[in-house]
Amino acid sequence: MSDRLVRVRFAPSPTGYLHIGGARTVLYNWLVARKVGGTFILRIEDTDRDRHVEDSVGKILEDLRWLGLTWDEGPVVGGPCAPYFQSERLDLYHAHARRLLESGDAYYAFETSEELEASRESARVEKRSYKYVRPSPLPTIAQGEAAQAAGKAVVVRFKMPGEPITVHDEILGDVVMPAEELEDFVILKSDGWPTYHFACVVDDELMRVTHVIRGQEHLMNTPKHIAMQRALKFATPSYAHPPIIFSMDGTKMSKRDKEKAIKEGRTPPEIEVHDFRVSGYLPEALLNFIALLGWSSGDDREHFSVDELIERFSIERVGKTNARFDRDKLLAFNTDWCAKTPPLRLLAAFKDFLAVNASPLLKFDDAMLARLLAAKKGLRTFRDVVDSARFLVQRDEEVWPDGGPINPDAVRKVLEKNEGAGYRTLEAILAKLDAFADWTAEGLHKLIETYCAASGAKMGDVAQPLRVAITGSTVSPPIGDSLALLGKDATCARIRRCLSARRGA
Ligand code: GLU
Repeated sequence: MSDRLVRVRFAPSPTGYLHIGGARTVLYNWLVARKVGGTFILRIEDTDRDRHVEDSVGKILEDLRWLGLTWDEGPVVGGPCAPYFQSERLDLYHAHARRLLESGDAYYAFETSEELEASRESARVEKRSYKYVRPSPLPTIAQGEAAQAAGKAVVVRFKMPGEPITVHDEILGDVVMPAEELEDFVILKSDGWPTYHFACVVDDELMRVTHVIRGQEHLMNTPKHIAMQRALKFATPSYAHPPIIFSMDGTKMSKRDKEKAIKEGRTPPEIEVHDFRVSGYLPEALLNFIALLGWSSGDDREHFSVDELIERFSIERVGKTNARFDRDKLLAFNTDWCAKTPPLRLLAAFKDFLAVNASPLLKFDDAMLARLLAAKKGLRTFRDVVDSARFLVQRDEEVWPDGGPINPDAVRKVLEKNEGAGYRTLEAILAKLDAFADWTAEGLHKLIETYCAASGAKMGDVAQPLRVAITGSTVSPPIGDSLALLGKDATCARIRRCLSARRGA
């Protein structure tokens, strides 16, 4: 790949949050640009008004920012090829369509959608593949304009040159599309809006895009694009189509999987970048992971910082075979990333996670949140931290409701066994806690140790009953941390509620 004046682009259609496949496309483009000091353009392909989803541009920009994938030209930042929204470039598409009409490389066509559907239907009935039949003779420009003026639905179609077209793909090699498979396609719809193919080709030229990297689902579009570039005397950028990303079960990762899971009452799988943010993944880990969905470094190494990816990434090392989205591997990546991320950065990412989830933990200050993070050893995602800290934002009555324990199993296993030994421990330790002044994790830990030494109890014999008393469950951060974080008043109040719940039973 030549690195002279590299200009790449990511061209999302605003149909919702950024899909994980789109994120990989952005990442590869961005890495190519950053590696050689090129330009990364963000272009919003918002010409399909039917598929337009309100607010999705804002969502996509937010996802990109969260991933740290900054753009050099595009929405918000502007640039020499503005505007970067296709909906604001209609006059440019019209001018180029006019050129094609005048050179005879495009023509007006009048078929109604019912007529086209009827031809498709007869192809189906006759079991042959459907192909649009070019009208003969072709309508003249004057006839097209007259029909438009008369209010008829008129489209502009590109006239395919009737020859095979070869895509020189940087990943797949030469891909030849036979002429028979290429039909004349619409470039301007009857409402005057361009189709994706046409707007994309015009903009890639006007924005001086040198390399197009986009998912393999677009491979079959590229011959059409090349044909238009030739007719318009545009440059043909270098093309690379990375493989499609599949779930481990071999199905496409689609937004529908989420809807289906919700309907069936299952936890929906993460599909869009935003889902991973909400689930508590670090963007660093996600980027590292998606870089490997198609690309490999050539040695055994898999963990890379963004800077290392910039240095090592190359399109030449992207494979041809479909990539598998291995969620266990992503979780393992995230666990490692959490362990090695500096505390301040981890705290910032944790706060972002709490904010997107509108978590009640947001009421805690940074020092408290940092303690929570530090107390959660081996955390896999930020959700683990929140789960283990839930007791901190619950009210005493929620942990020990009047009607009985929230977790009878825990009560049975930890408090009731050995004829209520756990309760007896709680009574004894409550007296000590009540009188205790050094309410710190270390101080409390020592207090329990001293109690154990004096009574002959094991640490767990004391920590577990305490845990059940203050959280209603058997999991929480280390007991000293848990008591310190909860505070003296709530700790003692919950132990009392727990003891009186037994008496009430
Ligand atoms: N708007 C297209 C999409 O979202 C972009 C395809 C391309 O990169 O050319 O799939």
